[in-house]
Amino acid sequence: MTREHVDVLIVGAGISGIGAACRLRERCPGKTFAIVEARGAIGGTWDLFRFPGIRSDSDMFTLSYPFRPWKGAQAIADGRSIRNYIEETAGALGVDERIRFHQRVVAAEWSSADSRWNVQIERVDTGETFEMSCGFLFSCTGYYRYDEGHTPEFEGIERFGGEVVHPQFWTDDIDHSGKRIVVIGSGATAITLIPPLAERAAHVTMLQRSPSYIISLPAVDPLARVLVRALPTRFAYPLVRGKNVLLALAIYGLSRHRPAEVRRLIRMLNRRRLPPGYDIDTHFKPSYEPWDQRMCIVPDGDFFDSISAGRVSVVTDRITTFTETGIALESGAALEADMVVTATGLELLPIGGIRLSVDGEDVDVGQTFAYRGMMLSGVPNMAYSFGYTNQSWTLGSDLTAREVCAILSHMDRYGHTQCTPRVRDPEVTPVQFIDLSSGYVRRAMDRFPKQGSRDPWRREQSYTQNRRAFRRRPIDDPALAFSRAASAAPPRRRPGPPRSGRDDRSAVPSP
Ligand SMILES: Cc1cc2nc3c(=O)[nH]c(=O)nc-3n(C[C@H](O)[C@H](O)[C@H](O)COP(=O)(O)OP(=O)(O)OC[C@H]3O[C@@H](n4cnc5c(N)ncnc54)[C@H](O)[C@@H]3O)c2cc1C
Repeated sequence: MTREHVDVLIVGAGISGIGAACRLRERCPGKTFAIVEARGAIGGTWDLFRFPGIRSDSDMFTLSYPFRPWKGAQAIADGRSIRNYIEETAGALGVDERIRFHQRVVAAEWSSADSRWNVQIERVDTGETFEMSCGFLFSCTGYYRYDEGHTPEFEGIERFGGEVVHPQFWTDDIDHSGKRIVVIGSGATAITLIPPLAERAAHVTMLQRSPSYIISLPAVDPLARVLVRALPTRFAYPLVRGKNVLLALAIYGLSRHRPAEVRRLIRMLNRRRLPPGYDIDTHFKPSYEPWDQRMCIVPDGDFFDSISAGRVSVVTDRITTFTETGIALESGAALEADMVVTATGLELLPIGGIRLSVDGEDVDVGQTFAYRGMMLSGVPNMAYSFGYTNQSWTLGSDLTAREVCAILSHMDRYGHTQCTPRVRDPEVTPVQFIDLSSGYVRRAMDRFPKQGSRDPWRREQSYTQNRRAFRRRPIDDPALAFSRAASAAPPRRRPGPPRSGRDDRSAVPSP
């Protein structure tokens, strides 16, 4: 049987994969492509997570695609609305027909002789495997395992008589009404989950080892509220989006350069939201600087309101052991519980766990350098989508999709069939891929590519800076080795002067 071949194979139908497909259609209309998705639905994260209150914690004006504006003034949206938005975008731009569900890419082997990837795919529903090939592999597989969340070893957990649930595996039939609930963790998931749980629970206790920074933002963007009434979406959306890009960067920059001031400001805002005399030093004073770890955002202060209403309490302590009826703590206190929610994080995973090899040599992703945060040194014709951690993910993933399209167009123009990032600068030293100190990040970093100490092996956590660089620099960067297989067809177009990313402008503005 002949093996199916596409020019580009996109892996994953989450917000990045659908965005990449839309960009490919728009900017490289001649390319054939398919999207393979291990699950049975579009949306990735926004379809998988079903815990009460699941929502974005970055604003929808920057989490949405620039080519399909988020309508309305709601800045923070619930998971279902985000999933619907991704699905509707796929339908509206006709990329939904290219998705093959229940197909997991397990391995991809690059052959330089043929300038193509041979891709092994497993049908998740039947277990059968088959192969297809592609000229370019685009991994839009997110950054964590879907089949497992992170749960530390808790002594005595097996003797606990109540229910233990990880938020990643929350299902609609879990009933928490009237229960005494302990949520272990203080990250974004715990902070999101607790106020909605508290609405029907007898009481919710957030048990944290150490506090996080929590700030309240309006659920409805005040500027958007005015602009969407006064202006058509095509004018209002870029303005609100631009404002939010700059605001997120300003908060991040200020946190990095003036951490003491930002700490003081957050403390002052927390104090205003919490009941008088609340022990902020114990429960809301992190031991790290702002943005050393992800900051938690709460819409309209819902988390603080639940504390003020007495429905939620915060305990900062360490677990000694689970008991039959709850959790014993190092301080000697005990928490009685009917249900424990382990909001203890994700298990990070690069490139969707796909085994890569190049001309018969296995690739150890942890030993590669990340070219502009999107390609791996020594690995031809392959990119991965990784958004920002300090701003909306989509700002980064959409920029990556545009960069990939620019590289593909450049290759077509000059008749190249292979593009391989190579570290030629001996001065480049490795830097951790994700610039966060959280435990779940540090635990996994040896499996992720390294950033380099200097350009182009370093991607700044700044959308505006990266977008500017993309528009100005030529595609034929000295760190990219372009070549042509002897068997390849001649170039489609006559080569002109080298092009920059900006030459791949689309009709749709990308603010
Ligand atoms: C609870 C939670 C809340 C978040 N909130 C925000 C937020 O407010 N703002 C923000 O910017 N970011 C947020 N994030 C980060 C979030 O993951 C990104 O915003 C974004 O959804 C990532 O999209 P993605 O398409 O890159 O990856 P995913 O959403 O993870 O989608 C990846 C897709 O690839 C598929 N896949 C993976 N491996 C394979 C394989 N080998 N073969 C085939 N298919 C595969 C998966 O099944 C999945 O459908 C949040 C993350 C979580 C977990």
